Amino acid sequence: MSINRAKLQDFRAELTAAVERAAVEMCGAQRVTGPVPGTLVRFAPRPMVQTLPALQTAGVAHNHMTSMISELACRARAEGATWQDVAERLTITGTAEKSAGQAAFDQLVRSAAVPDRATPASWGLYGPTLTWTCLSCNQLIEDGGPAAGHPDEQESGHDEDCARHTNAVRAYEAARLEG
Ligand SMILES: [Zn+2]
Repeated sequence: MSINRAKLQDFRAELTAAVERAAVEMCGAQRVTGPVPGTLVRFAPRPMVQTLPALQTAGVAHNHMTSMISELACRARAEGATWQDVAERLTITGTAEKSAGQAAFDQLVRSAAVPDRATPASWGLYGPTLTWTCLSCNQLIEDGGPAAGHPDEQESGHDEDCARHTNAVRAYEAARLEG
């Protein structure tokens, strides 16, 4: 979970450079000298790429990352991660009314409503669901998010004897007995 701060800065700089390069190569943007946002123009010029094409390629990158996040989150769920695990990696926090896991689910369902998404959200009987393949029973699972509580209501589609789902139900019922 911990992250190397210096590498994080490098990574952000690489992403910025990739977006700017794409603006030049895909959108024909010019490299110009302009102000640093939030400073007086005459004091702080720096080399940059024309603004609107850079905005366009930043948007392309944003949509691509949104799709990638949906895809990876569904893959993580397929591999057995909980919505809480997904929320932690995405630094999504909860509120008094909503768990972090539910907040992560809601965010992904919202972003999956964007056209050209990688993993479409669909509507199940009780609301939106995300779909992934259970690696334990190989069935297609409709995941309605953690709010439902009981694994039977949260995930539909597991085989009757799915080991993962049986364990999840057992753990849920044991936790209820303790609580
Ligand atoms: Zn299963």
